Amino acid sequence: MKLHRVLPYAKELLLQTVEPGETVIDATAGNGNDTEFLAEHVGENGHVFAFDIQQQALDTTYTRLSSLNERVTLVLDSHANVQEYVTGEIGGAMFNLGYLPYGEDLTIITEPDSTIKAVERILGLLKVGGIVTITVYDGHKGGDIERDALLSYVKHLHQRDVHVIRYELINQRKNPPFLIAIEKMRSFTTPRQV
Ligand code: SAM
Repeated sequence: MKLHRVLPYAKELLLQTVEPGETVIDATAGNGNDTEFLAEHVGENGHVFAFDIQQQALDTTYTRLSSLNERVTLVLDSHANVQEYVTGEIGGAMFNLGYLPYGEDLTIITEPDSTIKAVERILGLLKVGGIVTITVYDGHKGGDIERDALLSYVKHLHQRDVHVIRYELINQRKNPPFLIAIEKMRSFTTPRQV
């Protein structure tokens, strides 16, 4: 298959840019699928910081990771506070927006302000040449508001600081997700807006 679905494409971009031994971030741990993928890829000398605001998500992630937990720090806090936990350079990061699948409260969702703050701060930590992937779901209540705010934010990031793509399959039914991927082009602490 040449045209990947959204999540496999996000993973492919990270496989191309994250080196084993690097530190990376899963900004939305959820059920731990992406945390597990990242932990396997960075290897025993790498590290993953995985954020979620729900204990249920971190418990599920912990169980899924099994022995991989040694290379993962689970953080029960908003990804918007990433700078309180991660200070060094990171090799890449993943976001998977929306609600916790199979969760107890499906009204707990990622929100525009905290998502954008987290993206901005994580871009500051990212190595030059690194990529942040954001899988965007807009079918749930509030998802359209977050989608529009995020698209407006990333479209106005300075082109010398980052390159931004939107990737989606346009013949899928039932509100499929789309991908935003951001590649860091030069060193900065906070990306400029135009
Ligand atoms: N990547 C996950 C996986 O592999 O299973 C799926 C993530 S799920 C679609 C979105 C998650 O984001 C939910 O578990 C939700 O609790 C979490 N979330 C919502 N707001 C958050 C925030 N401000 N910081 C961190 N996580 C948040």
